[in-house]
Amino acid sequence: MKIDNPNPIQWQFSERAAQLQSSFIREILKITQRPDIISFAGGLPSPATFPVERMKAAYDKVLSEAGKVALQYGPTDGYAPLREWIANSLSTEGSTILPEQILMTSGSQQALDLLGKVLVDEGSRVLVETPSYLGALQAFSVYRPEFKSVDTDEHGLVPSSIDAVAKGARMLYSLPNFQNPTGRSLSLERRRELVETCARLAIPLIEDDPYGSLSYRGEPMPKMVAMNPDGVIYMGSFSKVLTPGIRLGYVCAPLPLVRRLELAKQAADLHTAQLTQMVVHEVVKDGFLDEHIPTIRKLYSDQCQCMLDAMKEHFPTSVSWTEPEGGMFIWVTLPQQIDAMKLLEQSLAAKVAFVPGAPFYANDPASNTLRLSFVTVPPERIREGIAILGKLIAGML
Ligand code: PMP
Repeated sequence: MKIDNPNPIQWQFSERAAQLQSSFIREILKITQRPDIISFAGGLPSPATFPVERMKAAYDKVLSEAGKVALQYGPTDGYAPLREWIANSLSTEGSTILPEQILMTSGSQQALDLLGKVLVDEGSRVLVETPSYLGALQAFSVYRPEFKSVDTDEHGLVPSSIDAVAKGARMLYSLPNFQNPTGRSLSLERRRELVETCARLAIPLIEDDPYGSLSYRGEPMPKMVAMNPDGVIYMGSFSKVLTPGIRLGYVCAPLPLVRRLELAKQAADLHTAQLTQMVVHEVVKDGFLDEHIPTIRKLYSDQCQCMLDAMKEHFPTSVSWTEPEGGMFIWVTLPQQIDAMKLLEQSLAAKVAFVPGAPFYANDPASNTLRLSFVTVPPERIREGIAILGKLIAGML
């Protein structure tokens, strides 16, 4: 039986909660899930790549053979055989990663939150790229840091610009491979320079790398964590190489930090689902990703090329864009006078969606930029959508 509320609660949110805002992308995604819209807005991997049958077989095997363990609570740091597999895959000839350095997380998004929780006080300086991953800005924002932007150019983050903003920085958050949102990657030389600069300044360097294995050509670049395991915190994810719905990621950090992260995770959710971790271990342990990832690369590479070709054909010459060599995104720079937000209003009316670039900047947003994703849209729809965008942009010149 329900009671009356004679004295309705006047919700008083914490200062932290009062300043929370929904991610602009999540808001756009609500609109763009309609089937009549050509959406270049999503950051979603293509469901065509999800290994449904392989996952189904693995769930069946794990539940049949070890159901009682899989359905029980598990350790906070994660399922030991999977942590071992990850540590092995991150180890190189010159640098060994220990399983104890790996903390399994509920998506790598949780690792961002935990890093904010253990490294950032109100007003702490956090260094980010210009632009940076919106989800990281959102995760760190909860802890109310002072964001300082590090310069980037067409080759990505510029390490020589770090010194000027380094004072007191608690961390530098970097995305070296096929960056979200720009699709840019750091050269080997810049990686080395970045690792050396952060080591010299004693700033923890975060290497967020969900897209590293999705390179269209050639071998993936060396990881920065292998160059300095004592100073680099590596974040990985199964979202882009298996499926995002399982919410499984991990962070690899020096031991003193990983223990703190583990305590923070314990307080947050005890542990990541044991069943999921056991299933993913079952799927990856015998080399499945070695055959699966090339199929994702091929699909994304073909669709990326299709979009680049269409842009060349339909976009005015005053528009420029990145030409990614992997990952899921192309970054577009419009002529200075065009506001991507205004373009979005018109393009939504014409049933084409994208994400304006401004929300990806921690400081001084460039309103003439936007992000396009090509992975979930078939080629004929990519051509159709880009032709529409090209016309709208031309009309705004
Ligand atoms: N980092 C980056 C750069 C991302 O693009 C994403 C997902 N869009 C994440 C982290 C979070 O991924 P997940 O939580 O699915 O592992």
